[in-house]
Amino acid sequence: MEENDLFRMPPPLHPQAFYTERAAKIMAVRKRGAVPMALVRTYGCQQNVSDSEKIMGMLSQMGFSFTEDPEQADFILFNTCAVRGHAENRVFGNVGALKELKRRYPSILVAVCGCMMEEKSASEHIRRKFPFVGLVFGTHVLHRFPELLCTALEGDGRVFERGDEQEDAVITEGLPARRGSRFRAWLTVMYGCNNFCSYCIVPYVRGRERSRGPHAILGEFRGLVENGYKDITLLGQNVNSYGKTLGDPISFSELLRRLDAVDGDYRLRFMTSHPKDATRELIDTMAGGRHISHHLHLPVQSGSNRILKAMNRGYTRESYLALVEYAKKKIPDLSLTSDIIVGFPGETYEEFRQTVDLIRQVEFTSLFTFIYSPREGTRAAKLPDPVPAEEKTRWLQELCAEQEKISAKRCAGEVGRTRRVLIEGKNSKTGLLHGRTDGSVVIDFPGSEDQVGRFADVRITAARNWVLSGELVPSK
Ligand code: SF4
Repeated sequence: MEENDLFRMPPPLHPQAFYTERAAKIMAVRKRGAVPMALVRTYGCQQNVSDSEKIMGMLSQMGFSFTEDPEQADFILFNTCAVRGHAENRVFGNVGALKELKRRYPSILVAVCGCMMEEKSASEHIRRKFPFVGLVFGTHVLHRFPELLCTALEGDGRVFERGDEQEDAVITEGLPARRGSRFRAWLTVMYGCNNFCSYCIVPYVRGRERSRGPHAILGEFRGLVENGYKDITLLGQNVNSYGKTLGDPISFSELLRRLDAVDGDYRLRFMTSHPKDATRELIDTMAGGRHISHHLHLPVQSGSNRILKAMNRGYTRESYLALVEYAKKKIPDLSLTSDIIVGFPGETYEEFRQTVDLIRQVEFTSLFTFIYSPREGTRAAKLPDPVPAEEKTRWLQELCAEQEKISAKRCAGEVGRTRRVLIEGKNSKTGLLHGRTDGSVVIDFPGSEDQVGRFADVRITAARNWVLSGELVPSK
């Protein structure tokens, strides 16, 4: 071969392109209806939603259409979450319910993926209890999905695949995505977590922190803006650690500034911010941004320093409150939301009350509250946990009642204001449109469906507890 011929050769195909084509050929014959149909069910956080969008993108390339009806599906996939025990049990229940369907239609391929399948005990449970599940794979091998699917479709055995150390480090760029919305998008900027909060399974199932390069992120971001996406959320387990592991490190604030410089009519959000790594520079960047939403999700988890230490969170109640004070001063219309765990092992009622006191001080817009759920393999799961479940439930109710009062007060203060919302949809029961403010508060108001996906100004006319109603302000 002449040296010049090298330049005339087509670029090498993506290694999975071969399997994508092959799966398409197999499914063209194996399908039960006019086209192969897939049902993808997603549990858990936005990262899982984003992963499912990538899997659906790959399935689209194989010629699949999508259904919510298991009776119509040729391929059924559960993308699972490992964060809470009851969610895991729900997955097992839902997988078990497919046994009869698989008996009636043996050609259906049932698969389970996601964080749970990176846990050995959960994937072994599937292996033992659900012999009709043909494909099981973890988060680290998602980029090899077409290959794994082909093996499961062609082979005569079941396929079980979890990541190894090497694959843990892989970031595959260029995977297609079939996005669930035409105006809201998730954009993953980093994977994994190094924090090892004592209650959390995520570092074990999603591996160590690794960041995507800023050029790849900027390219995807520009594409989203050019395609009319209006609300783009950057995703990572701890976005404030973004860039630390890159050969040429950059901070998350710097990444935000580069993205914010892209012209267009959109909002830029991010989650999740760890309070130990959230900096004043981040707050300043939010305050000075053109498109950066004034919404900060900053999970505090507890208001007690002893519990925060036992959780291995790496900050104190005082440092958290100092950051919040700085943020409120810099961004007067800031909307703060948070996560709280109630009933961490060994937590006393007095310590729980310190959390209630903290939420009163901060006045969050809303809270995501959870009763502690032990995860096998984490440090907290080994701690004595003497408080009965009913008692923890009472604490949770107490916390929620307090937050409802705060939310109601905040909402009442909104009446008479005009807020810019992104109109997200129409409620089929009430016939009202609903839109989300910059601070991620939902408002409903009358209007026509063709406005969905656009920004509009809404004047808030009423607050019922923590639900806002309004009316569209005619554009000039
Ligand atoms: S920061 Fe803590 S809670 Fe969040 S994913 Fe990492 S270990 Fe889990």
